[in-house]
Amino acid sequence: MTATPGERIYSRIGELARISDDAEGLTRLYLSPAHKKAAELVAQWMREAGMSVRIDAVGSVIGRREGLTPQAPALLVGSHIDTVSNAGRFDGCLGVVTAIEVVRTIAARKATYPFAIEVIAFGDEEGVRFPSALGGSRAIAGTFDPAILDERDEQGVSRREALAAFGCNPDAIAAEARSPATALGYIEVHIEQGPVLEAEDLPVGIVTAISGATRGFVEVHGETGHAGTVPMGGRRDALAAAAEMILAVEARAKGETDLVATVGRLTLPNPATNTIAGKARFSLDIRAPVDAQRLAAVADIQAAIARIAAEREVRAEVSLSYEAPATPCDARLMQLLTASVEGLGIRARRLPSGAGHDAMAFRGVLPLAMLFVRCKGGISHHPSEHASAADIDVAARVLASFIASYASEFAKST
Ligand SMILES: [Zn+2]
Repeated sequence: MTATPGERIYSRIGELARISDDAEGLTRLYLSPAHKKAAELVAQWMREAGMSVRIDAVGSVIGRREGLTPQAPALLVGSHIDTVSNAGRFDGCLGVVTAIEVVRTIAARKATYPFAIEVIAFGDEEGVRFPSALGGSRAIAGTFDPAILDERDEQGVSRREALAAFGCNPDAIAAEARSPATALGYIEVHIEQGPVLEAEDLPVGIVTAISGATRGFVEVHGETGHAGTVPMGGRRDALAAAAEMILAVEARAKGETDLVATVGRLTLPNPATNTIAGKARFSLDIRAPVDAQRLAAVADIQAAIARIAAEREVRAEVSLSYEAPATPCDARLMQLLTASVEGLGIRARRLPSGAGHDAMAFRGVLPLAMLFVRCKGGISHHPSEHASAADIDVAARVLASFIASYASEFAKST
């Protein structure tokens, strides 16, 4: 019995999952020995699929299948092979292995397109080892900040040193940058990492945008006091005020499509059962695929916090520490993906990505698109993360069809 592409991809994802920095579980950090081994295996699969392979200056594995002319610009198809600690096996690897399989089938058909195809296995997506992330995709996008070469991991090893040990030349990173003359666009297949596709019984979905995010902290200053002696009427309870504010954050996002707002941390300086909290601090994480939608929510949440603070006679300080714009996917590429999904008789569900991806690095640089694959229970960054071979097979067929229709559009436009 011949395995389907989905089954071959599924089994290779299993092979990659055995390459770990830890004896137990899957942990593969950027530029680690396991990353090196995984990169070598991926490079071997790329060569077997008929690609020429190199490791670039930041440790990404790049396989290239030439187009009709040797210097033709390339369609980039990528994802990542680094993982979080104690990871699932599908996050990242699914996209890389699926891209290799699709190029293998293109080579087997001896199909040649007017553009090259490059499969890229990035190694620095998760941002676990060093403070920043997306070094691989930013190098290709031409937005790599050389200052991060001095970042150090927990052992005190710098990015620059780790790159040299991996066999890379940090001084050559700037030369990895692509331009529209050498790259046409970027597409990434990735597990959804959420429950939407499963809930709607769909194997794949088309990403509309990678949501932008605002993060920060709110400090609530009230007045501490004895839980037994201060009457309820005269209290300025910082924790009760924070609780009302947290519910206001939730209420603002509830019921508005694609907007999410989360308070994931709440800390009290000296909590005690018999003490009224004088101070409370909680986090804010607000995301939406459209920047105006997110900014409106942030403004409303700040207003609600100020109103609650005034009503409760506490002082609330909001400090927003992080702001990332949304990364919209390219309308034309989304349309090609939609036609490819519908061509398989599947409803084309469009959804935003609430999580970050390498594709973000190409914002404003290259047209980009993403295809999500259903993941069991919406669970990710955990050993029980799972995507089925049947769903992966659908993703491979959509990607192959996308590339073929991209090629026919390309032929028409040139
Ligand atoms: Zn990922």
